[in-house]
Order: sequence, then structure tokens, then C-alpha cells
Amino acid sequence: MIDPRDLSPDAFRREAEALGVGPPISRRLSSAVLARGIFDPQVWMSSLQIPRRLMEAVGPLERLRLERSIVSPRDGFQKLSFRTADDLILETVIIPLHKPGAVSICVSSQVGCAMGCRFCATARMTRRRNLKTWEILDQFLQAREMARASGRRPTGVVFMGMGEPFLNYENVLVAADLLRCSWGASIGAKAITISTVGLVPEIDRFTREGHNYRLAISLGAATDAQRERLVPVAARTPVAEVMAAARRHALARRERVTLAYVCISGQNMAEEDARALGALIGDTPVRVDLIEVTDPTGMYHPPDAVELKAFRDALTRHVGQPIVRRYSGGKDIQAACGTLAGAG
Ligand code: SF4
Repeated sequence: MIDPRDLSPDAFRREAEALGVGPPISRRLSSAVLARGIFDPQVWMSSLQIPRRLMEAVGPLERLRLERSIVSPRDGFQKLSFRTADDLILETVIIPLHKPGAVSICVSSQVGCAMGCRFCATARMTRRRNLKTWEILDQFLQAREMARASGRRPTGVVFMGMGEPFLNYENVLVAADLLRCSWGASIGAKAITISTVGLVPEIDRFTREGHNYRLAISLGAATDAQRERLVPVAARTPVAEVMAAARRHALARRERVTLAYVCISGQNMAEEDARALGALIGDTPVRVDLIEVTDPTGMYHPPDAVELKAFRDALTRHVGQPIVRRYSGGKDIQAACGTLAGAG
């Protein structure tokens, strides 16, 4: 079986060509599935005139089973829980953006996560595997269907759900290519963000391959000692090496790398943390996104307004780069960063 959600645009074209089906027709089928969400083989054959041999090679496309959809009454974040064929739960979040009607879709790349960040519920899940490309795409397609049904339009995708995307490198990159493709989901490359806790070989590979997607690196903290406590697996790589890879990327792509900094009250928000972050960044072109921690176990607490303002002011003194406070919504429905665990 071949699946237009599971193969890169070129690979799907080649598979269709091997069946004697030319690019305009294979593209029509890809577009029906990826752009319009048409899954009915009868419609492919009757309205789209897809030849039987291609239709049979594609077959009925498997879908993730939607188990639950819950919308936050507070801020409109919507969490979708899906069940896989092997009985695993994964989660996807529809994030309302400032522009009326526009949403971003936060997709998962793995079930569970081996990175073990102390403040993250996903890290506490036991079963884990990489998601297939079609499972990543299907999260987007079903979320888009739901968003469209209520008059909303996905304008961006973030790989910030469950899992470390760079541990599922190939599938994530093919998924991003299908999301961007003009006869696929048509999401602009710059509106697709791939987030990592800082896997240096994969960051370098991503840079070398010249992808246009945005790169976000979640630092956890600015010193190796702090990272050892908060993001122990990621901390096996010295933070200076992560920053050097970020710098190589920023210079090669001529754009700012987003550094996500999870703010944890009393842990990583002192003046010396801001100073350490400033020294680490130097003149590397970055944008620092401040995200308040949401730890479902209650072990780590978000800062109050006073602590956050003091830290932001300290960063302004020590980091000569844009600093943005990123809203991590959906806290009331366990849809915020670090709370996806296939349970809520
Ligand atoms: S924060 Fe991200 S990388 Fe860290 S454990 Fe959670 S899902 Fe994995």
C-alpha cells in the first residue's frame, strides 16, 4: 500500500509513475487528501477520475481514532486525543492565534518521550514509539477539519506536542514537506516550527540540509548545572555546544533561532540566570520566548507577575535580543506545554 500522507511528494510521484500514472493525476489524489481532506475512494474514482490501479495501490486510508475533543472555556485552546491502531494515545492541540479565525496546530511526533524533562507530563508516560509520517499528518488533517467546521483556519503548525521531533527526524521532515507542499496542506515554510531540546547532530543535519522551517530550541536553563537538574537527558550535551549549533544554524539560514526558556519560580529566574543566558547567547541572532511552566504534579511552580517582570527586566539588561512572553494556554484542560500525557 502507498499513502500520500506517508511518502514525500517526490516519492509518491515515483510510486504512481511506477504504476503508469503521471504526475498530474498523482498530484490530484495527493491534493484531494492533503488539501481537501477527501478520503472516500468512490469520490476519488468518480469525481476526480483517479485510475483504479492507483486507487487500489493506495487502498482505504487508515485514520487515527478520535477519542476525545475538549475546548478550554477560558481561552479556546482545544485538545484532541487520538488512539492509534496499536492502542496508544497521542494528543494534538488547536491553538487560537491573535488574528481572528486563525489557529495553529500543535502536533505530536512520538508517543511518550525519552528526554525526561522534570517538569513535563509526557516524560512520565511509559510506552513510547515514533509516530509514522501519516500519523503526524492525520493529526493535522483531523484538527483542520474540526477548525474549519467552526469557521477557523490553520495558518501554522508547531512540532511541540508529545515527543522530541529530532528523535523521529525523517518522519517529521517528510511530514513538514507535505504540510508545506503547494498541492498538500499549503502551510508556509516559515509558519512551520520544529522544536528540539537541543540534539546537536540533528540540529547540524537540519542546518546542512537547508530546510526553511523555523527552528526552536528549548533550553530549560542556561548553565549545565541547572540543566542537569531540569532537563537531565538533554544536559548530557553541554549547553555551550547546543548554543554553538544554534549559532551555526542562525548564521547559515540568516534568521533568528527561537530559544524557548521555561520559567520556573525560584529555580531558573534569578539575576545570575539572566546573566548566564546573556553570556551564553552573546551576539548569536536569537529570539528568547519565555514560557511559564505548567507542571501537573505541582512540583514546579510558574512565577508570579512580580518575579516574571524582574526576570524579564534582567534579561533586557543582559541579552541584547528580542524577548517575547509566549502564552502557554489550555492549562485548565491539560493542553499547555508540558502537560500532554494522553490522560486529561
Ligand atoms: S518537554 Fe518535550 S522534550 Fe522534554 S520530556 Fe516533554 S515532550 Fe520530551
